[in-house]
Amino acid sequence: MNRDEALLRELGLWPTVSLLETKVLIEGQDAFARPQEVKVTPPSTKPVSHGQSIKPLDAKEERVKETKPEEPVKSTGQLTLQERVLSCAACALHATRQHALVGKGNAQADWLVIAESPSTEEDLLNQVAIGSAGEMLANLLNAVGATVFENTYHTYLVKCRPVHNRPPSLEESRACRHHLLEEISHLQPKVIVLLGRTVAKLFLELDLPLTQMRQKSYDFRGVGVVVTQDMGALLRQPSEKAQAWRDFMFAKKILNQCTQRVGSDDTTNT
Ligand code: SF4
Repeated sequence: MNRDEALLRELGLWPTVSLLETKVLIEGQDAFARPQEVKVTPPSTKPVSHGQSIKPLDAKEERVKETKPEEPVKSTGQLTLQERVLSCAACALHATRQHALVGKGNAQADWLVIAESPSTEEDLLNQVAIGSAGEMLANLLNAVGATVFENTYHTYLVKCRPVHNRPPSLEESRACRHHLLEEISHLQPKVIVLLGRTVAKLFLELDLPLTQMRQKSYDFRGVGVVVTQDMGALLRQPSEKAQAWRDFMFAKKILNQCTQRVGSDDTTNT
């Protein structure tokens, strides 16, 4: 049993998803062609509408890739960001939180994964991407060749947990958005994965059924954004794992397209 088969078996996808599918997608020949055309729009030059300035992808400085597991966003503003989030009271969620969680992972990660808000366990323990949902996410990322916190960075749409497991409101999302934009600005990821319809709806401010948002790439300041299932929902509906895996393969394809585009720009500029 090779590594790919082992990963798919761990996810419970073997033999539902064959290695043939894996190979074809990794090679960039979309075996799961959808009616919708993959659209990666050119980098936006429009100003950021929520206060923070984000460089378009083409304008990013040369990236030096290093593997630094479990490293928080490292920049001159990192401590300030943490401090600001910890002391933030910009929305009502501050009153009921146990902790306020900024993201965690490699500060130069290609993958940025955005979940809705800290889970009960994450809020209590002040840890990012843990528990059964965290394991599910790690397995899916592993299955497409990414390693959690090594070449991924995980954060939340809102940094404080709403009580009673309710989704954050648009107002709360907007209040917290500048923290998220600051993380994106520091990271400059190559692909952003949104976990669940609520995150997609509030991040993209696009009210569509989840099924209509999957297998499409949305442009956010020059970065491709892909939507998949929330990990909690996936735990309740394990039959959806194969589709979630396809979403992550699609995200990998968007990431690879970005890598090729940046490489070709670098060649043109030399
Ligand atoms: Fe501040 Fe965000 Fe927490 Fe609201 S959710 S209090 S905006 S850190």
